[in-house]
Amino acid sequence: KSYKSVALVVGVTGIAGNSLAQVLPLSGTPGGPWKVYGVARRPRPAWTANHPLRYIQCDISNEEDAITKLSPLADVTHIFYVSWMGSEDCDVNGTMFHNVLKSVIPYAPNLRHICLQTGIKHYFGLFESYGKIQKHESPFLEDVPRLNTKNFYYNLEDILFREAKKKENLTWSVHRPSLVFGFSPYSLMNVIGALCVYAAICKHEKKPLTYPGTKGSWDCYADAADAELIAEHQIWAAVDPGAKKEAFNCTNGDVFKWKQMWELLAQEFGVELVGYKEGQEQRSLEEMMKDKGPVWDAIVRENGLLSTKLEEVAPWWFADIVFCSEDLLSSMNKNKRHGFLGFRDSKKSFVSWIEKMRVNKIIP
Ligand code: NAD
Repeated sequence: KSYKSVALVVGVTGIAGNSLAQVLPLSGTPGGPWKVYGVARRPRPAWTANHPLRYIQCDISNEEDAITKLSPLADVTHIFYVSWMGSEDCDVNGTMFHNVLKSVIPYAPNLRHICLQTGIKHYFGLFESYGKIQKHESPFLEDVPRLNTKNFYYNLEDILFREAKKKENLTWSVHRPSLVFGFSPYSLMNVIGALCVYAAICKHEKKPLTYPGTKGSWDCYADAADAELIAEHQIWAAVDPGAKKEAFNCTNGDVFKWKQMWELLAQEFGVELVGYKEGQEQRSLEEMMKDKGPVWDAIVRENGLLSTKLEEVAPWWFADIVFCSEDLLSSMNKNKRHGFLGFRDSKKSFVSWIEKMRVNKIIP
């Protein structure tokens, strides 16, 4: 088979990477037909079995491993970098990305474009400084100046700008999704995964689904980015001349309230919802769920689910951040000006990913 484009998806088992691996090989995908290489740290998981994917297990934080495994991929035309190390360390995250670029740019003569995924922390800072520094006013606009604080997203951008200059006609785009709705039992930040596991545990224990978060996060308008839409967004930027050398926000293009999503979640699991109670303090899911490993193991066993560990499928720390956050909307106007009109209905997106987790036997 002859391919028009060859993608290297770095972080292919992650929440965005998994959707790229599904969307790229489809027959109607712009720029196609695409051949797809996918890189991740661990051995290939069973739930990627149906993707037509050349899977490469590689530790990109290790320069030698990256050079050995990625430099032979001489036919790569596009890099989709959708990875991070799981901590906000600027040096390690920078090294990972740099190792990939060093291993591909000099060896892939037809390399044309690099998509870098960062996110809306660009506008409010790292989680470790959350609430402690002045964030940008929302709706976030792509062209505001950087905050005066360390942020690995800034390091990644600087590495991108510097390395891309080393090759003629090599273009790039930066993608800043808001909260991602998608599928990946390996993701370090999968809010729907955490919510589903929480709801499944409540149901198993015959308890109501209690909202643990703050009033602000319950009541405010929020936005999200469907992982499939993120894939379409990156592919658009990879092939459309109007999207080169620019940064773009990426959201579904609508807003919702978390109280509405919690209702949908309760319906999906057939549990009673106990919403925000006036005056309630935030309760940490990480704390509430810390002893639930054996309960999850029992749920997995009784429902014949794919074997997973609680800490893999439910990043509680991340849900705790989401349910104390508010006022983090992004503008999609720049996208429209440059020709990206993709959107999703966030409520439908939310339910569709729950169903996808169910079909893949990750949740009951
Ligand atoms: P993820 O946690 O879902 O997946 C990470 C991927 O990177 C996995 O495939 C993992 O195998 C791979 N990886 C990690 N360390 C590796 C290593 N040393 N070698 C090889 N592969 C390695 O990732 P994500 O959530 O899609 O995050 C990508 C970017 O998007 C990050 O910068 C993140 O901050 C940003 N972002 C995420 C969200 C979200 O809700 N998940 C929202 C906005 C922005």
